[in-house]
Amino acid sequence: MFVYADNAATTSVSKTALEAMLPYLTQNYGNPSSLYSFGQKAQEALQQARETVARCLNADPREIYFTSGGSEADNQAIVSAARLGARKGKKHLISTKFEHHAVLHTLKKLEKEGFEVTLLDVHEDGVVRLEDLEAAIREDTALVTVMFANNEIGTVQPIAEIGALCREKKIPFHCDAVQAAGHMPIDVKAMNIDMLAISGHKFHAPKGVGALYARKGMVLSNIIEGGAQERGKRAGTENVAGIVAMAAALEESCAHMEENTAKIIPMRDKLFAELSKIPHSKINGSLEKHVPGTVNMCFEGIEGESLLLMLDDAGICASSGSACTSGSLDPSHVLLAIGLPHEVAHGSLRLSIGEYNTMEEIDHIIETVPKVVSYLRGMSPVWDELQKGQRQHLI
Ligand SMILES: *Cc1c(COP(=O)(O)O)cnc(C)c1O
Repeated sequence: MFVYADNAATTSVSKTALEAMLPYLTQNYGNPSSLYSFGQKAQEALQQARETVARCLNADPREIYFTSGGSEADNQAIVSAARLGARKGKKHLISTKFEHHAVLHTLKKLEKEGFEVTLLDVHEDGVVRLEDLEAAIREDTALVTVMFANNEIGTVQPIAEIGALCREKKIPFHCDAVQAAGHMPIDVKAMNIDMLAISGHKFHAPKGVGALYARKGMVLSNIIEGGAQERGKRAGTENVAGIVAMAAALEESCAHMEENTAKIIPMRDKLFAELSKIPHSKINGSLEKHVPGTVNMCFEGIEGESLLLMLDDAGICASSGSACTSGSLDPSHVLLAIGLPHEVAHGSLRLSIGEYNTMEEIDHIIETVPKVVSYLRGMSPVWDELQKGQRQHLI
């Protein structure tokens, strides 16, 4: 049995998205910047896609800028707010310790350029506290950037409250909503969000296309220089087919959100319930404020990487953290941020379920994971020491 349980890393392209994009690869392949009517067909498709994406976020179409994905949108939002702040003598940026690297590495870069960065703690439940944010805000704060839902543990942040606080303090608020878009309701107006990043491939559009919402009045700096596409804010011939697919996928995901959530939750809950029976296991992040499909757990005495390889042999695609960091052997910065000791964070497993998964697949995971965990523990010197009482159990 093949089970794809890594939907937080990427998703398959939906039939709707594929069918929407195909004509823009084969028939209407004109350049949207061309003046003849053949090019204008592509321009019209872009406009329609912009309206669709705007509608799904409760934004104005003129506030949507298409990008190459979530990373680019995050980079542009953060750099724009920093440049804007610097012009007013404001060089303090606030974020959290468990953001995606697209955010954290952009902040690191700005730090080297003389900005000061405060990274808020995320508590053991994986949720940022409003009081902590309020205490960190200064006269010279140029930006607050907090993710909507965490990509590793799935916890959802108090975005509307953060938005209200930032609006009151007149500080631009950017939100990396890559894990939330298409999976949870987003309303940029009601939530007082000034900038927001989404990425198509996390909700059944192809990879390499995303969008940045920037509220009217937010001045964007260019990350990519060149032509006058995207109202001069993002040069480069538009990925018309990808953009059309992203709009179709977002519209479809938002239209079926309740139904998809109702399908995913029982699968996720069964995973949590059954895998929690494994001795010395731990669920990471609060389940109260959570995206529907993400399950993150730790199993003491094993290495997450070995677990993944053995699950792969059993046909199960899972992850130990985010796909972006799995090249390194360091434990996840997210799990460390919620206070897990290194030894425990090493034994993590992320399963991310989507509406295309089935209960049979969940049963296959539930049958396989406990066997693999016991097998790995049987070979683990750390587990041996724990058994002999030479080492204390941490979970
Ligand atoms: C996937 C992801 C990104 C990066 O999006 P890309 O389109 O892959 O560049 C950024 N933030 C979060 C939270 C993500 O999950």
